[in-house]
Amino acid sequence: MSGKPAPKSPVGLLLLLLIAFLAVFFLFSGIAQYMEVGPRESTGSLLLGLLGILFLVLMVSRILGQMSLPPPKVTLTLLQCSQCAFKSLRNFQLGDFIPKPMGSCPSCGGTMMVEAIYPEEEKRPKRREPKF
Ligand SMILES: [Zn+2]
Repeated sequence: MSGKPAPKSPVGLLLLLLIAFLAVFFLFSGIAQYMEVGPRESTGSLLLGLLGILFLVLMVSRILGQMSLPPPKVTLTLLQCSQCAFKSLRNFQLGDFIPKPMGSCPSCGGTMMVEAIYPEEEKRPKRREPKF
């Protein structure tokens, strides 16, 4: 953790913290048992702790890997006239639902309705590569 932004999903973060806690707990109790009764009785806890920490390292590296590639997605709302075939696409706004009346059609004056709401990948600037 060196100044990087926290993972977006709070549930995953909580789970990670729980596993971290358990791993540290088992590791320390394993070490404590090792001090008290010797290696034969403590290998279970030590192993659990080490496994937990290994799992943690894997999880953290996975989360960091995911964060470096944020999915560029936007939600779109498709508006369609209830009288004619006029369609309009715009970014989703809070409160949009299907079927919601959205003013009048610029083509015929009929009622525009929210027809569909769906996520779509953000339009990337098109790079025209010369094809021969
Ligand atoms: Zn219309």
